[in-house]
Amino acid sequence: MTLELTFHGAAGCVTGFCARLKTERATVLIDCGMFQGPKTLKALNYEPFPFAVDEIDAVLLTHAHIDHSGLLPKLMRAGYRGPILATAGTRDLCAVMLPDAGDIQENEVRHLNRRNQQRGRDAVEPIYTARDAQRTLELFRTVKLGREIQAAPGITARYWEAGHILGSASIEVKVETAEGPVTLLFSGDLGPGGRDFLPDPEGPAGVDHLIIESTYGGRVRPPLDPAARRRLLAKELRDAKKAGGPLLIPAFAVERSQELLADLQILTREGEIPEADIFLDSPLAIEATEVFRERGWSPVLERNPFEDLYSSGRLMFLKEPQESDRLERLRGWHVILAASGMCDAGRVRKHLKRLLWRQDATVLLPGFQAVGTLGRLLAEGASSVRIQGEDIMVRARVRSLDIYSGHADQRQLVTWAKARGPVAGHVFLAHGEPDGLEGLRGELAKAGFPADRLVIPGLDDRFVLSKAGAAPEAGPARILPNAASRPDWHNARARLMLDLNARLEALPSDAAREALLATLARSVAAGRAVDAGQGEPSVRAAS
Ligand SMILES: [Zn+2]
Repeated sequence: MTLELTFHGAAGCVTGFCARLKTERATVLIDCGMFQGPKTLKALNYEPFPFAVDEIDAVLLTHAHIDHSGLLPKLMRAGYRGPILATAGTRDLCAVMLPDAGDIQENEVRHLNRRNQQRGRDAVEPIYTARDAQRTLELFRTVKLGREIQAAPGITARYWEAGHILGSASIEVKVETAEGPVTLLFSGDLGPGGRDFLPDPEGPAGVDHLIIESTYGGRVRPPLDPAARRRLLAKELRDAKKAGGPLLIPAFAVERSQELLADLQILTREGEIPEADIFLDSPLAIEATEVFRERGWSPVLERNPFEDLYSSGRLMFLKEPQESDRLERLRGWHVILAASGMCDAGRVRKHLKRLLWRQDATVLLPGFQAVGTLGRLLAEGASSVRIQGEDIMVRARVRSLDIYSGHADQRQLVTWAKARGPVAGHVFLAHGEPDGLEGLRGELAKAGFPADRLVIPGLDDRFVLSKAGAAPEAGPARILPNAASRPDWHNARARLMLDLNARLEALPSDAAREALLATLARSVAAGRAVDAGQGEPSVRAAS
């Protein structure tokens, strides 16, 4: 009996995790995530699955984040009717996150089709709709941590606490083969441990193969206990109030928003921060907060820190778009939490558009900002940005405070991996940008893992596994766009347009502006000549 492991996502990049385990008797997927980030990477979401959907017997889901769960409705649409095995927390979060993702697909496609129509192009279909997402929820079966379950013929699974977000798990998979059982451990996304709102990650010791995430594999963060975290947040609030205007916090709707709200409540109660009206301006975050009130029990605190979020009279939930629009009329000091966390979608963009030019406003970025996102541009100090087709000057105070990360850093990943040893076979590093993957590989080698058994798989790379070995197998592979982990040409175009507009405005006369545009027009014409094979190759390299 052969055992094959194929990486269909988060291989060489951070998003879209999906692994496929196949024997002669059964095939299971571990996660079915959506590619996120640069447009050229997101285009992969529209392509057919690179495997036969009717062969899949079960999906084992590590957690609810869209880059792990976001293509499940597409799988259902392609005919999948088997079980999706997840913890109760993951199921409940997926019940709000997947329909929301369906809404986003429908909206994006509506906009795109309007433009396609104007350009005479064919209409495109959404990847899936909110209704598809609702139907997918019927396939969920809940799994308890620590209990072994039969996932498919010859394949059992056991879920372990991952400490990353509510409901998150690492999944131990045991596969019967001719040489006896082979055990694999999929880390999923791992939390840093030492948090008050979530338990530390756990896992079995002694596995045959380990598949580990590498998001922060290249970085070490200074250790930070919950009290120190709150002190840093309190200082940001006091400074923002001093600046005189509102504080806008772009926050992930799930986990980050709830943790921030709980911390703000504690700090207000302790008199550490100026009193403020706090607006949670994200329908998804509001629905997710209900799940946290239900399931957010913390074994560290021995209570649910989210249970009494409603008790503060100054926390307002803005569900309807009109309620959100009314914030524009509000003057003076107040706090707004809005999704998305990396500023590339959602209501936060509207608030950024009206606040970024104001010197008295503060924007606080509380988490990781991926390359190519508006959040990353702001974090890197952009002096102007483009939002919904408009150029906006950045005069607000922009602050980064990466203290709410749900991810283990390099040191914590290595500690976790060592605790899973001895690893008889290979360690596969996934879910990272090149720095993270290479950084973690180096540290794992230093920690005693044999260097020739540390593998960084590429997209659609396939391996035939035995108890201690992993042999790469040739097979069809999609090409991962170059832009998977760096800004793509869409980002470069936006940057160029901003620079051009700024340059045109700075020029002293209309004649100078016309001359610059004429030079550009000549370059564009030269570029066309190169495309037609008539020009100097060097022109293309320079354009
Ligand atoms: Zn995650």
